[in-house]
Amino acid sequence: MVEEDKLEELIRKHVLLNAIAHKGKADSKAVLSKVIAENVELRSRIKGLLTLVEHIVKEVNSMSLEEQRSIIQVNYPEALEKEEKEERVKVLPDLPKAEKGKVITRFPPEPSGYLHIGHAKAAIIDEEYAKMYNGKFILRFDDTNPEKAKLEFYEAIKEDLNWLGVKPQIIENTSDDIEKLYDYARKLIEKGLAYVCICKPETIKSNRIKGIECNCRASKVEDNLEKWEKMFKVFSKNEAILRFKGDMKSLNTAMRDPTLFRILDIPHPLKGYKYRVWPTYDFATPIKDSLDGVTHALRTKEYELRDELYFSILRALGLREPILLEFSRLEMKGSILSKRKIRELIQQGIIESWDDPRLATLRALRRRGYFPEAIREFILSIGVSKVESEPTWDLINSINRRIIDAKAKRLFFVSNPIKVKLESFPKERISVNYHPDRDLGKREIKITQNLFFEIEDLEKFNLDDKFRLMGLGNVRLIQKEDLPIVKFEGFELDHRLKKIHWVNEDSLPFEVFVPLNLVQDGEINRDSLKVIRGKVEDSIKKLNVGEIVQFVRFGFCRIEANNKAIFAHK
Ligand code: ATP
Ligand code: MG
Repeated sequence: MVEEDKLEELIRKHVLLNAIAHKGKADSKAVLSKVIAENVELRSRIKGLLTLVEHIVKEVNSMSLEEQRSIIQVNYPEALEKEEKEERVKVLPDLPKAEKGKVITRFPPEPSGYLHIGHAKAAIIDEEYAKMYNGKFILRFDDTNPEKAKLEFYEAIKEDLNWLGVKPQIIENTSDDIEKLYDYARKLIEKGLAYVCICKPETIKSNRIKGIECNCRASKVEDNLEKWEKMFKVFSKNEAILRFKGDMKSLNTAMRDPTLFRILDIPHPLKGYKYRVWPTYDFATPIKDSLDGVTHALRTKEYELRDELYFSILRALGLREPILLEFSRLEMKGSILSKRKIRELIQQGIIESWDDPRLATLRALRRRGYFPEAIREFILSIGVSKVESEPTWDLINSINRRIIDAKAKRLFFVSNPIKVKLESFPKERISVNYHPDRDLGKREIKITQNLFFEIEDLEKFNLDDKFRLMGLGNVRLIQKEDLPIVKFEGFELDHRLKKIHWVNEDSLPFEVFVPLNLVQDGEINRDSLKVIRGKVEDSIKKLNVGEIVQFVRFGFCRIEANNKAIFAHK
């Protein structure tokens, strides 16, 4: 037999589960038949039950899917387990022609900014494949553009990958191999497959668009070798470039005699003034991949047009050809995943730094309380398909929630606090567990004469309404104007009562920074960092900076200082 007070709870659970299985909208009839199938004795009360079910369905359907999930997560974690197991880690598909022990992959970030969750996708997939075949995984700094590379970023990338749990067996810099790359350039020139072009940049550009060959292309090998030497000493930036002899009429514009080397007279963070002739990505990448023994080179789909060039260069030099594979670029709704664009936002002062909570950089995610395990699971659950997808934050949030829920202490934070007098409470202090079903300890809360509620909560009650103060007991609103007053009415649980959280007079001023979508309707939303001010219970003093907490009825946050936290998700 289901006890009366358990019945509502049971229905609520089924409504929530039905809702999350149907895009947030539960169906009363479906829930009713499920409840009755599990408790046949309820069949005689079907009419009354339907009203109750409909009532709860209405309430639940008005919540967001994320909210529904978080309630299930908190109250019925066991019910989610089965469903989430299925959603968890899909194994990556096999790599073509892969042999155990022989696979070598690489992740080649340019040290021109901090890593974001898109880079995490590339790095994790590369590392997972190497693990899958007991192979090797290389971290290669693609640092051949001294205008963009900065020392700070090499370090940050290593730190962030380490935090993410991505562990390369080899760490290398393309800039260490510049001289080898010069040798290969010379070979190409000698074979008549590369030439120095001294046309103006605008001319080169317009000829490329029109598919026109210039006179430089026709010059003799000896002339090219001479001009190549002059690139190191005589020519200035933009006066000469080395170009691959591709096909100026190719439909694939990447093949229209692309640049292999250019002059950049600017110190390099690792090499200083040692070099001024720098290879392009198009030249350095295939050669490095080949020399490093990379068997499977994975990159994002937008490089697909460059595959032809990649193989042409290797064939021209008679070098081993790795297998190229593409996957879709990760985009996250409302976020910006481009180092260049993030850099611009920082320069414009719209965003303060690379760890601004509105960004999807690894630093920002860490600062908000995302766990590296959640990021990896998220990446593996979306997989390596080439199909463009823009996974929602809901997915990564639900994974992170499952991981942190059991670890996060639950505390009360009251935004927009209003003072309310509490009458007739029989105790001086109460003891409240930090977590309803995990042993995370408890704190004593002094019951002061006045408490603070959220003004929005109080406004919803009418005079004489009864409700529950979480962890404390039931109260009735006996005065709403001036100083509102609630009167204590007992400890017994009553599921029909609305529950609200509260803090006492010892609570401390506190701010929560809530990041909103940085991109809204295609535009940058300058007002995307909301600060919510309120009061937090003073037990916050016992917690450490960096700890993740769940502010009850608010969401998960990471404590950043004794008066400040950053919001992660509900
Ligand atoms: P950005 O525009 O942010 O500078 P990028 O591709 O130029 O991006 P790199 O440092 O060159 O940045 O990237 C290193 C690797 O990470 C590349 O192989 C690239 O394909 C991959 N990568 C970058 N962004 C994403 C993304 N959003 N999703 C998946 N992989 C990505
Ligand atoms: Mg790049």
